Amino acid sequence: MTGRQNRSGATIGIDLGGTKIFALAVDNGQIVGEAKEKTPVHGGPLAVVDALAAVIGQLTPSAPAAVGVGAPGAIDHRTGVIRWAPNLPGWIEPFNLASALSAAVGDCPVLVDNDVNVGTLAEHRLGAGQGHDDLVGIFVGTGVGGGLILDGRLRRGPTGFAGEIGHMVVRTGGRRCGCGGRGHVEAYAGRAGMERRARQLADRGSDTVLVSLAKARRMTSSVFARALAAKDTVALNLVEGAVEALAQALAATVTVLDVPLVVIGGGLADRLGPSFVARIEAATAELVPGVQTGALRIVPGDLGDRGGALGAALMAGTDISLPAPG
Ligand SMILES: [Zn+2]
Repeated sequence: MTGRQNRSGATIGIDLGGTKIFALAVDNGQIVGEAKEKTPVHGGPLAVVDALAAVIGQLTPSAPAAVGVGAPGAIDHRTGVIRWAPNLPGWIEPFNLASALSAAVGDCPVLVDNDVNVGTLAEHRLGAGQGHDDLVGIFVGTGVGGGLILDGRLRRGPTGFAGEIGHMVVRTGGRRCGCGGRGHVEAYAGRAGMERRARQLADRGSDTVLVSLAKARRMTSSVFARALAAKDTVALNLVEGAVEALAQALAATVTVLDVPLVVIGGGLADRLGPSFVARIEAATAELVPGVQTGALRIVPGDLGDRGGALGAALMAGTDISLPAPG
C-alpha cells in the first residue's frame, strides 16, 4: 500500500494518446519532471492503467496529490469513464479509467477528460487564449477536434460533445469520415482523411509525391509539408480543401456563439505553420457576418504537443506558471 501520508504534493498531468503517453509533474506551480512511454498495443484498458501508473511512478516516488488525464474519445468527465475510444488499442467496452488508476496509485483523485477539452483549457489558461473569456480551440491532427471556452469556463455539454467541429457537415453526402458519417470537416481537414483521399487519387492515376514520400508508412504531417514545398498539385488541392472545410465550420461556429478568438493547434497545423492558420483566418473572415469580421482573430496555439498534459494538470486542480519563452 502506498499510504496517503506519503503523498508528494506533485500533481501529474497526462496526455494519453493512441501511440504514446506523455506526462508531466507540477509542484508549487512549477514543472518538475516529464516522462514519456509508448501506449501499450496489447492488453486493453488494464495494460494502459499499468503503463500510466509506471509513468507516474517515474515522476514521483510517493502517491501524487492528484492526476489529470486527457484521452481521445467519448468520455464522461463526471465519472471518469472512457465510453468509446477507437484510437486506443483494445479499448472495446466502456471502462472507468479514473477509479482504476486511482486505485493503482494510492487512491489519489483522478480526473479524466477528452484530450481536446484539456488542450483547449491549456491554451486558455497558459497559451494563445490567455485573457480571453470566449474562445474555440481547434486541433488539426490525425482527426479534427474542438473545444469551447464560454464565459471563462470549459463548456462540455450534456453529452460531452460541445465544440466538436470535426464532425460538422460541410458537404452534404460528401467524403466518408472516420466516424462513419459523410461530409464532415474531419474527412477534409484531418490528416487521416487527407491520406485516404490522396491514396485514392493516386490509385486513379493522379501524379503525386505524397505516396512516394510516405512509402509504406502513414502519410505524416511532415510528408504533407514536404509535398507542399515541392508544389505537388494533389497536396496543394487537399490543403486548399482542408482550409475551406475548416473555414465553413468555423464561420458557422463563430456566427452562432459570437466567439471572437479561435486558437488552432494539433500536429498537422503545427507542421504546416502560421501560413496555414492565416489562410484559415482569411477564408473564415469572408464567411462571417460583417459585424463580426473585424473582431475575429484566428491564431496558432502556443503550447504544441505539451498542451494536452498541461491542460490535464490544470484540470486536476494545480496552477502552472510557464517560464517566459526565449
Ligand atoms: Zn465524423
